[in-house]
Parts: sequence; C-alpha cells; structure tokens
Amino acid sequence: MAKLKEPSFYDSVQRNFDRAAALTDLPKGLLAQIREVNSVYQMRFPVKIGKEYKVIEAYRVQHSQHRSPTKGGIRYSHKVTQEEVMALASLMTYKCALVDVPFGGAKGGVKISPRDYTPAQLENITRRYTTELIKKNFIGPGIDVPAPDYGTGAREMAWIFDTYSVFVGGIDAAACVTGKPVQQSGIRGREEATGRGVYYGIREVLTDQELMDSIGLTTGTEGKTIALQGLGNVGYYAGKICTKEGGMKVISVAEYEGAIYSKAGIDVDKLVKHRKRTGSILNFPGAENLEQRKMTLELSCDVLIPAALENQIRRDNASKIKAKIIAEAANGPTTADAEEILLKKNKIIIPDVYLNAGGVTVSYFEWLKNLSHMRFGRIDKRFDQNTYLNIVNLIERNTHKPITAQEKMMIARGADEIDLVRSGLEETMVTAYQQIRSVMRRRKKVTDLRTAAFISALNKISKDYISMGVFP
Ligand code: NAD
Repeated sequence: MAKLKEPSFYDSVQRNFDRAAALTDLPKGLLAQIREVNSVYQMRFPVKIGKEYKVIEAYRVQHSQHRSPTKGGIRYSHKVTQEEVMALASLMTYKCALVDVPFGGAKGGVKISPRDYTPAQLENITRRYTTELIKKNFIGPGIDVPAPDYGTGAREMAWIFDTYSVFVGGIDAAACVTGKPVQQSGIRGREEATGRGVYYGIREVLTDQELMDSIGLTTGTEGKTIALQGLGNVGYYAGKICTKEGGMKVISVAEYEGAIYSKAGIDVDKLVKHRKRTGSILNFPGAENLEQRKMTLELSCDVLIPAALENQIRRDNASKIKAKIIAEAANGPTTADAEEILLKKNKIIIPDVYLNAGGVTVSYFEWLKNLSHMRFGRIDKRFDQNTYLNIVNLIERNTHKPITAQEKMMIARGADEIDLVRSGLEETMVTAYQQIRSVMRRRKKVTDLRTAAFISALNKISKDYISMGVFP
C-alpha cells in the first residue's frame, strides 16, 4: 500500500482553519477572504560572497491587510520555501487577532543557512533584502513591520533599521522593524518575550482545574517536568523562565547536534554556557547523552515544548509521544494528522497561534514606543513612586511600626519599562487564554484549544472586515 503523504505545514494551517471555520456561522465569502494569502513577493538578488556572486532566494508574504501594518518575523534557513512562509504569514494573522494586536499577518524568509556565512556576509544579505522590500513598498512603519524569527535576532533587525533609515528615513523610521537592540530604539524585554509568553501560557493551562482533571494531572507548575526541543531564542527563555519562575524542571534538551537527559533537571543557563564553550550540548556534566535527538520528543514528561521548527510531530511519531501536554512554542510543530492522533490519546495541545504570541505582543509595544518617541514609564514612574511612598509613610506613622528603607523602596517602587512590558505581556496571555476557554464553554462541539483559538481569532477578524464595509 502506498504510504500516505504527511500534510505540509501550509496544508496543516489550512486544515486547522477549515475545522474552526465550519464551527462558526460566518459568511462563506468572508471566510474565503480571510483564509487566502493576499500578497507574495518572491525575489532573487545577487550578493558578493568572497570572490563570487551568489543568487539569494527570498520572500515576503502578506497574508491579510485587514489591519495595517502587517507584521511578522523574518526567517533565515536553507529550508525556507514559499509555502512555508505562506503558512507562517497566515498564522501571524490569526495570532495577532487572538491577542488583540492590531496588525495583519506577514512573514519573511531568506533561503540561507546563517552558519555558512560570516557576519559581514550576513549583513550584506540582510541589507540587500531590505532594499528589495523598500523597492516594492513591502516595508514601513504603517505598511509591513518585520521582526526576528528562526535564524535571525536583534543584530539583523538593527541592519534592517539602518538600511531603511538611509533609503527612506523619516521621523518614524525606527518603527519599520521590531526586535531591535535596546540601544537602537528597541524595547526592554523583547528578546525574552516569546519564551516568557510560552511560560505564561503553560502556567494558565497547568492551573486550569477542568483541563488538568481531564488528563489526570495535578494543578500548578511547581515540579512539573519539561522536555525541550531547540535551545535558541524561544527555547532558551521558555526553559529558563519555566524553571526560575514556575519551579518546573527541564529533564531533557534536544539540539541540532544531539540530545541530553537528566532526571535531576538541567540548568539551561549553564547548558548554554557549556554549548558556547564546547560547541555542543552533549557531554553536559550531570546529564547523559541520548542516542538520538528525536528521543527527547518521546520521553515521559508532563510538558513537551517543541521550540525549533515545524512538522516535528508527525503521523509516524505522534503515537510515541508520552507527554501529557504539548506546548507549541515553535510554529507548526504538530502536523494536522499528528494532531488527530494526539487528541484521540487525550493529550492537550497548547497551540502555537496562542502560545508563542508573546513575541508579537512585545513587538507591538516596541512599535508603539517608537511611534510615541518615548520610553514606557517615563511619565508615570516617579509619580507612582511618590504616591506609594506617601501611603507607606502614612501607614508607618499611624501604626508606629517602622519598616526599613529597603522594604519601603520594594513596596513603593514605580514601574520601569521592563516591568510594564512584562505586565502587558502577562495580561495579554491571560486574557487570550480566558477568551479561548470561553469559546470552549459556549460551544460544546469545540473540545480542543486550537480550534477555540482559531474561532476566537476569526470572530475578531470578521468584525474588522464588516466594519470596513467590505462585507455586509
Ligand atoms: P532560533 O534560531 O533562535 O532557535 C532555534 C533552535 O532550534 C536553533 O538553536 C536550532 O539549532 C534548533 N534546531 C533546529 N532543528 C532542530 C531539531 N530538529 N532538533 C533540535 N533542535 C533543532 O529560532 P527561534 O527564534 O527560537 O524560533 C524557534 C521557533 O519559534 C520557530 O518555529 C519560530 O517561528 C518560532 N517563533 C519565534 C519567535 C521569536 O520571537 N523569535 C516568535 C514566535 C514564534
């Protein structure tokens, strides 16, 4: 018998959309408009690498302009394809709507493996890619605003900002891209944002009595075990914050070069240092090397966090997953076929469209900061601090119970930018989770978090289209 073909990442996104759309009463034409990708810019450009010219293939996809600007990261990977970028751009639309970030969805991809290039060559490629986007009006604070994704980070965003400033400029130029270094118009807390959002999302699920009862797990994050795939930006911060703030335990980590396991728990900070020093996560003191990196996915644990790439959990390994909860920090790690198998096995999947929305949420804060030309907290911090101090002093006087200056400052401290960013991110993740769960409570046919998240997003996007007068 011929082997069934695994659905592609894009097919899976479309299937997830269709499953949710069938459970809404939104008009067919409107759903069709939301579902399809609006614009695809495919480009090829030459870059001098050493003594030769190399032709680089790249994309920028804008899935939906129901809100402007469109927004989404840029991926550098030798596996980038047009379909992959289309899938990622589509997810961005649903993600932004779900967490009430007023953007349409977009995504970029450059088909290169960053490991094969020097920083100077990567700078040339990034600057050239940016000029291609400028040329076709595919970038700008009110048009389309990129951010980091797999294979890119603050350094690339700084190059994009600088290129845009030189060729276009203007008072709002800094808002043309987010995820910039803090010293170059970035915002504190952006680098950790996706991983931190992953922690808040996992915490919400783990403290949901009804869901925990359904899978036979006690509520709370303390002591829960994690298997982590991918120790890049998202995986590192998710692992670190789940451990430090949630009291969870990372028992296994898989990276490109292999996987490790430790029943006692792995300190991801120490592991990152070990990897920097030795070039590998393997042979980490206190942990054992696993034979194959895929074994991390199949370990017994409470929460599996895939934080690398799409299509990691497929039809061929879904039935081997022992984790009770699959927390999709990466985009599209579970194929639509695998999802069916996992749901039948009573697993909870915390969907990408919700769980990794912390990145775009804090990107939104950065964009607002750039447009307002002011750091968050600048106006209110001292006012709040003085007000709180007055209250504390009053209580002290009336109770005759003095406290130390240190205690006083701890209570009375006004919020800095990082405090406000984290607070805004937590509020966003908690509110979006409540909205997802309220869809499940209202519609008995909706029994999984992904379908509920899509329905919540579709309802919001359709309202935008209707208010634009495009649909009656
Ligand atoms: P990254 O490049 O910083 O890290 C990804 C890591 O995964 C790398 O260290 C890589 O070596 C590793 N990896 C690749 N294939 C692997 C495999 N088969 N097994 C184990 N490890 C493997 O990328 P990132 O920014 O952390 O993005 C990871 C995922 O999170 C992607 O799906 C991305 O779309 C998604 N995401 C990222 C952000 C963000 O803000 N960076 C936001 C939302 C979603």
